[in-house]
Amino acid sequence: MGNQETLFTKIIKRDIAADIIYEDDLCLAFKDISPQAPSHVLLIPKVVIPRLVDAKAEHKEILGHLMLKAGHIATLLDIGDDFRVVINNGAGACQSVFHLHMHIMGGRNFTWPPG
Ligand code: 5GP
Repeated sequence: MGNQETLFTKIIKRDIAADIIYEDDLCLAFKDISPQAPSHVLLIPKVVIPRLVDAKAEHKEILGHLMLKAGHIATLLDIGDDFRVVINNGAGACQSVFHLHMHIMGGRNFTWPPG
């Protein structure tokens, strides 16, 4: 595992177009094509980690970077302090693209538990 081409690696390489809102050396953030909230962005590492459980100790820096950038992206989106960050791990939890990603959603009220 680790080098598979997915939809998201194609977005990183610009083989597939996406509405990119943030990029740095380690990560990329772009609007979800099927938004579940008024603001819905996907934040992905550039390194391929298929699922959260596939992350290793060597990924500590990128995992921390993504957490910090989630807050930064919420600021860019101007969605205030009330937003949701979701990682679906595995098909049974509705992961459909096997390249680790955070959903950052805001602009509406949320309920708990999620479906
Ligand atoms: P998952 O279900 O794996 O947690 O999330 C995958 C997300 O990718 C879904 O929310 C889906 O709407 C989004 N998605 C699927 N295909 C595309 C695409 O071609 N472009 C963008 N921007 N998002 C996509």
